[in-house]
Amino acid sequence: MHSLWLDTHPVPAGGTEQFVPGTDYDTVVAGAGLTGLTTAVLLARAGQRVAVLEARSVGAATTGNTTAKLSLLQGTTLSQISRHQSDQVLRAYVEGNLEGQSWLLRYLEERGVPFQRRRAYTYAISPQGTEALRREQRAAETAGLSVTWTDETELPFPVTGAIVLEDQAQIHPMEVLDALATELREHGGALIQGVRVTGAGIGSPLTVETTHGQVQADHLVLATGAPILDRGGYFAKLRPHRSYAQAYRVPASPAGLPQGMYLSADAPSRSLRTAPLGDEELLLVGGNGHVVGRQDSPQAAVDELEAWTAEHFPGAQRTHAWSAQDYRSANLIPFIGTLPRGGGSIYLATGYNKWGMTNAVAASLAITAEMLGGQIPWAATLGRRLTTPSDLLTGLKDGAAVGKEFASGWASAELRALPDEPPAEGVGIVGRRGAAPVGASTVDGITRTVSAVCPHMGGVLRWNDAECSWDCPLHGSRFGADGALLEGPAVRDLPTAPRSE
Ligand SMILES: Cc1cc2nc3c(=O)[nH]c(=O)nc-3n(C[C@H](O)[C@H](O)[C@H](O)COP(=O)(O)OP(=O)(O)OC[C@H]3O[C@@H](n4cnc5c(N)ncnc54)[C@H](O)[C@@H]3O)c2cc1C
Repeated sequence: MHSLWLDTHPVPAGGTEQFVPGTDYDTVVAGAGLTGLTTAVLLARAGQRVAVLEARSVGAATTGNTTAKLSLLQGTTLSQISRHQSDQVLRAYVEGNLEGQSWLLRYLEERGVPFQRRRAYTYAISPQGTEALRREQRAAETAGLSVTWTDETELPFPVTGAIVLEDQAQIHPMEVLDALATELREHGGALIQGVRVTGAGIGSPLTVETTHGQVQADHLVLATGAPILDRGGYFAKLRPHRSYAQAYRVPASPAGLPQGMYLSADAPSRSLRTAPLGDEELLLVGGNGHVVGRQDSPQAAVDELEAWTAEHFPGAQRTHAWSAQDYRSANLIPFIGTLPRGGGSIYLATGYNKWGMTNAVAASLAITAEMLGGQIPWAATLGRRLTTPSDLLTGLKDGAAVGKEFASGWASAELRALPDEPPAEGVGIVGRRGAAPVGASTVDGITRTVSAVCPHMGGVLRWNDAECSWDCPLHGSRFGADGALLEGPAVRDLPTAPRSE
């Protein structure tokens, strides 16, 4: 499954600088998504010696697989934040997102990267959804956004109402990352792909450990999605959520494609936008999210989204299908700042809850301001937010769900011996071989067996039939059929397992 973005604008690997063990940097940034590259550009502009170490390739995880709406109307996020947090925190969240959005749009204008101005809509198709819209409108007003009500949309099905925010934008995320990577190099920064950060030894400077040796840095920024160091236990405070996206060529109709960016308030979620491709315009449809590794058949989610599109956009031909995951904190406010027990030198930014196009830039602005000796008031407010009883309850529920997955994964692997015959094409099976859970899969005619135990916290992995990957239901680490680490808080591949006892 390849995203429209990675397919139409991969950032060339050719520019990859050499990794030289022992090099000294002012700052090492782990991860070349939107957070990592924006942070690196801001630091390189300030004269720092910066290296971005990317485990895979630019945009490989979430940024290259997003839907890339750059919007302050974010479904029903604002009303959910205000259920947990004070109006002051809500306003700080919106202020940060506005600053992130303004910075990025200004940047794209300056660098000549195209984007499209669009209205953002949250729509409802049920009375409960309509109520959720009313709450969202009130929260948006509290935060100073002029969100208006409408009963008219461009959608080809009836709605019970919608709220609208004018003058938002949609982008091509890989064009954005390419522009940032180019500017980073113009300022002498290094972008090194295929090198994974695996740890950090505390000291001054820090020793940054990688799959290719060590380097030294005064600061390390974890822009890895889920933070890869366990200090502070952030992986346990985040819920990894995966969703599906598809692009379509739609036959011309008198109504044309909806030009707004739409998101449903009702479940299952539905996200719509258009994307220019040469001289045509594609329709993007997304939704059907679930916690990583806890869906029996991700392929069923893909099929259902396709059936929904066929029903509402007859004749639509799918050109791309992909999926991606993002991380959600209990109170929907991202974690931005220094990592506990990191000596004040290790920063993290995560928990954007599928609104990282604005939040990632906001996080980069906040982190770099702090590193360079400044302070941003909205960031200070977000950093001081309290854990409310409702946050604690959400955190406890998340923790209990993780505990249940841990126990049930091991119990079912114990009960079932791995069959001797290879799984059918596209199928993965977990079973016991000796005492250990082992995963066997067949992809493109090749049968492989790998350890089915996540090297992060020991969760038993589950097969993802849409991506042909092994996914961890505890904290969202994912691995290819060959055991290669794809994403999540783990830092090691899965060991291969013997084919038979
Ligand atoms: C389906 C979906 C749709 C979305 N749609 C929207 C939207 O419309 N609007 C919006 O605002 N947001 C959206 N989001 C959210 C947004 O895409 C993300 O929040 C954002 O892209 C996160 O960027 P990032 O740089 O923090 O992480 P990533 O883009 O995931 O970058 C992290 C990078 O770190 C690398 N990495 C990981 N571990 C290591 C390591 N140990 N060493 C070195 N490198 C490492 C990874 O390979 C990756 O390249 C969506 C998310 C999803 C899942």
